[in-house]
Amino acid sequence: MKLIPPDLKRCQALKPNKRGPFSFGSGHKMIRCTNKPIFIVTEKEPAEDGLKGSMSLCAHCLAVFSKQMPDKYVELTNIKKEESPKKEK
Ligand SMILES: [Zn+2]
Repeated sequence: MKLIPPDLKRCQALKPNKRGPFSFGSGHKMIRCTNKPIFIVTEKEPAEDGLKGSMSLCAHCLAVFSKQMPDKYVELTNIKKEESPKKEK
């Protein structure tokens, strides 16, 4: 299995679409967050395949994530400290 590397340009959280949990036959659609990520969360313990998963999250999604996932399972890395993002536009 190949892990998807964290996307430093776009938050990788998926949010339910505006219809919420009720899909009415349209399938379970999730919309990818479009915010710029500021943190990377990495699993502290490798999964069964021996790989540690990681993903980028914006501040908003991190707050949601933290409520669902106790800190002890993940390590947080501040993207801005790790590398200076290139100016865009
Ligand atoms: Zn986000």
